[in-house]
Amino acid sequence: MLLQARGEHLEDLAASAARVRDAGLRAAGRPGVLTYSRSVFIPLTRLCRDRCHYCTFATVPGKLRRAGHGMFMSLDEVLDIARRGAALGCKEALITLGDKPEDRWPEAREWLDAHGYDDTIAYVRAVSIRILEETGLLPHLNPGVLTWTDFQRLKPVAPSMGMMLETTATRLWSEPGGPHYGSPDKEPALRLRVLEDAGRSSVPFTTGILIGIGETYEERAESLFALRRIARAHHGIQELIIQNFRAKPDTAMRGMPDAELDELVATVAVARHIMGPSACLQAPPNLIDAEYERLIGAGIDDWGGVSPLTIDHVNPERPWPRIDQLAEVSRAAGFELRERLCVYPEFVKRGEPWLDPRVLPHVRALADPETGLAREDATVEGRPWQEPDEVFTAAGRTDLHRTIDTRGRTADRRDDFDSVYGDWDALREAAAPGMAPERIDTDVRAALRTAADDPTKLTDAEALALLHADGPALDALCRVADDVRKSAVGEDVTYIVTRNINFTNVCYTGCRFCAFAQRRTDADAYTLSLKQVADRAQQAWDVGAVEVCMQGGIHPDLPGTAYFDLARAVKERVPGMHVHAFSPMEVVNGAARTGLSVREWLIAAKEAGLDTIPGTAAEILDDEVRWVLTKGKLPTATWIEVVTTAHELGIRSSSTMMYGHVDQPRHWLGHLRTLARIQQQTGGFTEFVTLPFVHTNAPVYLAGIARPGPTMRDNRAVTAMARLLLHPYIPNIQTSWVKLGAEGAVEMLRSGANDLGGTLMEETISRMAGSSYGSYKSVGELVAMAEAAGRPARPRTTLYGEVPEERQRAAKASGGRLPELLPVLE
Ligand code: SF4
Repeated sequence: MLLQARGEHLEDLAASAARVRDAGLRAAGRPGVLTYSRSVFIPLTRLCRDRCHYCTFATVPGKLRRAGHGMFMSLDEVLDIARRGAALGCKEALITLGDKPEDRWPEAREWLDAHGYDDTIAYVRAVSIRILEETGLLPHLNPGVLTWTDFQRLKPVAPSMGMMLETTATRLWSEPGGPHYGSPDKEPALRLRVLEDAGRSSVPFTTGILIGIGETYEERAESLFALRRIARAHHGIQELIIQNFRAKPDTAMRGMPDAELDELVATVAVARHIMGPSACLQAPPNLIDAEYERLIGAGIDDWGGVSPLTIDHVNPERPWPRIDQLAEVSRAAGFELRERLCVYPEFVKRGEPWLDPRVLPHVRALADPETGLAREDATVEGRPWQEPDEVFTAAGRTDLHRTIDTRGRTADRRDDFDSVYGDWDALREAAAPGMAPERIDTDVRAALRTAADDPTKLTDAEALALLHADGPALDALCRVADDVRKSAVGEDVTYIVTRNINFTNVCYTGCRFCAFAQRRTDADAYTLSLKQVADRAQQAWDVGAVEVCMQGGIHPDLPGTAYFDLARAVKERVPGMHVHAFSPMEVVNGAARTGLSVREWLIAAKEAGLDTIPGTAAEILDDEVRWVLTKGKLPTATWIEVVTTAHELGIRSSSTMMYGHVDQPRHWLGHLRTLARIQQQTGGFTEFVTLPFVHTNAPVYLAGIARPGPTMRDNRAVTAMARLLLHPYIPNIQTSWVKLGAEGAVEMLRSGANDLGGTLMEETISRMAGSSYGSYKSVGELVAMAEAAGRPARPRTTLYGEVPEERQRAAKASGGRLPELLPVLE
C-alpha cells in the first residue's frame, strides 16, 4: 500500500522516512552527513553467461574483437585506470563484470587459459591484489553470483563486495519473456543464497533492488522484506541500493517505460522504514534527472560510487554528476557531503572479522579512525599485500591443554558472543521449525528383522523407526548392531596412541556449537609456535604415539601455507609420526588463502608431510541444520568435495557426525546415508566417529537454542544405526570416551562400536565446551574399558594396521601418557 502512496500521502511517507534516517545518522555519530565514494569503474569483462533483457553492459566476443578489445581487460589496462583514479584522489576500484563468462563463451575460457587463470574469480583475485599493491585503491568486487568458496577466495583481497538482489519475483526469471528469463544467475533463490553466504563469510556487502522491471508492488515489498531478514540474521549488509529501471535502446525492454520518480521516492521511503534507521540507503544520482532533493527527502543517506574519471559502464548514457554538484545539492537540502570508502564506516570500525588482516592496512591508510569515513588528507598509494608477519609466535594461554583441567576456562563465553555468531533472535526463529518432534509409524519389529537379516536392505522408513527406538526395542537394536560388529570386525576393541595438538584456538568462523574458538584478545586465546608443535610431537613419540592429530581455529593471520609448515615441522622432528591433520574447513581455508584449488593444495600438503585428514567439520551434513550450527563454516557440498578429492589423491580420512543439538533423527539418517554413498564411491574413510554434542559452554546452548546434548538413548541408537547403515562399507565405528566418559564408551562398545579412539594426551576442544571426562586416557584405562565390555584390546595405527613392536614397547613403558600432565580436577 505504502509503495503506491502519491501526492500528500507520499510527502508524509517521505518525511517520516527522512526522520528515521536522521535518527540513524545521529546514532552513528554523523548527523547531517550524506556520503559518496570517489571511485573508478573497471569493467573487467563484458562477457556474461546471462541474458537479461534490459542490459547493455553484456556483449559478445565478436563485438569485443571488432572494437579491438580483449575478452577481459588486461592487467595493464586495469592498472592504468586505477593509477589515474588514484591521481584524482579516488579510493575505490569498482570491479564489475559479467557472470561466469567462461561457462558460455569459449573465447573467455581460452583467454583465461592463455593467461594462467583457472576461472574468472582467480583473475578477479589477481587483479585486486595488483590494484592494492600498485595503486592503494580499495577493490569493491561485483563479480555476480559467488559461492561460499568464492567468498573465502576473495575476502582476503577486497574489503567489500556486492551484488544486486534485483527482485525476489521468481516468475520474472522462470517465465518466457520475463526480464531474467534465460539468465541462470538471476534466479532469486540463488541470489538470496549469495547474500546469506556473504553474511556467513563476514563480508561487508552491498545489495539492493531494481524497480520497474515488471514486478508487482507486492513482489517489490517481498524483496525488501527478504533483504531485511538477511540483514538482521548476519548484520553484514552494509548498503542497500534502490535502483530505478531505465530503458535502453537496443534492448528487449526498450519499449518499457522508465520507473517514475514517484515510484522511486516511495520505494526509497518504504525501504527506509523497513530497513530501519541504521541501514545505509543509496539511490544512484546518475539515474535521476535533477530531483536530488526528493530522494534526500525520502530517506537516502548515500549517493554511491561517483567517478571523476570513468563512466558508469552499466548505464553509459547517464553521466555521473560532478562531485561538487552533488555537494551543492546536498548542502541545499541541509546536508554535508562526505567521502566514504567502499567499505562502510561501521565495518571499518568493527574491523575483525569483517576485514581480513591482509587488506586491513590498506583500509586503515585511507580511513579516519574516529569516523570510519575516508580521510581527507589520505595519500592513495600502493602498499604490499602480504601475509601477516610471524604467525606462529607463541601467544596467549599456551598451557591451556593442561590448565583447562585445573584452572578451567576464564569465562563461559568469548567477549564477542553477541556479534560473532550472527543474530541470536533471527536464529531462534530459523531453528524453531527443525525442532518439532516427529511421529514415526513404521513397525519397529519389522525393521529389526530387516536389520538382522541384511542391514543394507533397511529402507529409510525402517531406519528412521530404529533411530527412534527405545526400551526393549532399543536393547534389541543394539544386540543386532553388536552381532553385525562381531561378524564385520571381530571382537578386538582397537585404540590408538595419539596426541591432539590444537595449534591455535583463535577463530572467527562463528560455529555456534564451538566453545573452543576465542577472539585473539580473549583471556583463553593462544597460538603455539612451530617449535612448540614439534616439541609436542616429540613428547608424544617418546611415550609411544604413532600419530598426532592437528587441528586449529581459522586464525585470520594464518597464511594458507601455514598448514604445510605445521606438517613439515612434525615430520622434520619425528619422521616416523603419522600426521593426521586439518579438517575439511582448514583445507578449504588453506586453498582459498593460497589461491590454489583444493586438489592442488592437498597435493602440496601431502608433499609437506600430511598423511590423512580428520573428517571433522562435518557436524550434520544437511545445510538446514548446518546453518543453525555454524555461521560461517563450509557448506555440505564443499565438505563432500574436500573429502572425495582427498580420497582420490590417496589421502584417507575419518568420518564424523556431531549430534544432539538442533538435529533430528531424519538428519542422522541423511548424514549416514551420505557417508555410505561417499564410501562406496571412494573407499577412503577409515572409520566413523560418533561425536555427541557437549553443551555446557556451547554458544548455541547458552543462547537457549540447542538441546543439552544427546541422551543415552540417542547415543546408543546412533551408534547402533551407524554400525548398521554403514555396513559393510565402513567397518570401524568409533565411540568417544572424551564426550561419554568410560562408562558411556563401554555401553557403546556393546551397541556396535569397535574402536575407542585415542589416548589423546591433551584434549582441549571438548574440555572448553564443558566435558568433564578429562584430557587424556592411559593405555591401561583404554584396555580396562575394553575388558569391561568383555573384549580384548588391541593398539592400532591410523589406518587400523599393526603397531610396530618398538612403538608398543614405548607405549607400554609410559602407559601412553605424558609425564607432565596433571590430574583432572573434579
Ligand atoms: S569449530 Fe573450528 S572453525 Fe568452527 S569456530 Fe570452532 S575452531 Fe572455528
